[in-house]
Amino acid sequence: MLIVYSKELAELGFVVFRRQNDTGGLKPHLFIRFKSKEGRLLTFAIDTTRLPASQNQPDAYLITHAHSDHYGKSAMLSVSSWCSEETARALEIRHEKSYKGNTFENGKTFSVCGVDIRTFDVYHTPGSSAFYWENDLGNSILITGDVKDARNLPKCDVLLTEASYGDPADLSCYFEDDIDGLHHAVLSHIGERKVVFGAYEFGKSQKAVSILRSMGYNGPIAMNGKALSLTESFVENSGELVEIKVCRTISCNISIVPIGDLSFFGSDIRKYVLTCRSDHPFESIRLSDHLDVDGLTQMVKDICPKITIIYHPNKSSRTDRFAKHLEKNGFKAFSINQIQDIIGNEKQIKPTE
Ligand SMILES: [Zn+2]
Ligand SMILES: [Zn+2]
Repeated sequence: MLIVYSKELAELGFVVFRRQNDTGGLKPHLFIRFKSKEGRLLTFAIDTTRLPASQNQPDAYLITHAHSDHYGKSAMLSVSSWCSEETARALEIRHEKSYKGNTFENGKTFSVCGVDIRTFDVYHTPGSSAFYWENDLGNSILITGDVKDARNLPKCDVLLTEASYGDPADLSCYFEDDIDGLHHAVLSHIGERKVVFGAYEFGKSQKAVSILRSMGYNGPIAMNGKALSLTESFVENSGELVEIKVCRTISCNISIVPIGDLSFFGSDIRKYVLTCRSDHPFESIRLSDHLDVDGLTQMVKDICPKITIIYHPNKSSRTDRFAKHLEKNGFKAFSINQIQDIIGNEKQIKPTE
């Protein structure tokens, strides 16, 4: 049984809680309350969906990046949302809506309600950012979102981080990017068979194009419309990209498609998934936008927080497993699944002193 360090967190001047959604379930991820240095009680929503206008609104919706499991699709419609310029651009392309919130230059500081929030690139997707600020007591909190590279991240008192590959007992949580594997897949089939890579539309597809171009592949690469727009927007020297208009019909030697579309292609086409997950039926090339479990553990050791909260992936047991792993390594840690402070729809949040 994990311990939830509510008392220790409160002593540091932070409260984390979750909220119910309209149907009585839990809204994704969590909320943080603290006092600013000017003594204002503030609430920041982290990677969650918008609350209906009739309900108490947080002072800010912080969006770490534009992946769907961080809910920018909903939060982007709030004037109180904050994300990097790149994340806003990616959300607009992905969801075909205009971003109504505020943006910052990734790596720079912005202010919300008198709180200076420092941001750090975590190299997970174009524009993915970590957020850092201090409360009235001078204690700091760092929210990483998904992390590929933690080299920029500062030390902090409270750390909110992810555990997408945080299960120390699962062998698929240990990996290194297999750039050579991607090179080999292209070189061994070029001129003989078409190759299709399954990859996430935002992040992985752009990374694949960058790697293919840097290895010297200059031919056209076929992609679906959104992935193509995102690649043109975020990859310098993306080269010739061709839109796949009819699924299953590809003309290029190399194509990048959503993972779910791979099964539409016949055995005459060589198929790979670009992932470190082991639950896809196709041969995989290990290429990840995340730290593996050793990388995550090293990140926590380097940041050396007093308390760590594992808040993502929402609804996954990996958050519990990584929190336990950190506890075994001598860190105070708990998972989002252990948070018992839940605010219902009907209740208004009343400031407490
Ligand atoms: Zn992500
Ligand atoms: Zn994620």
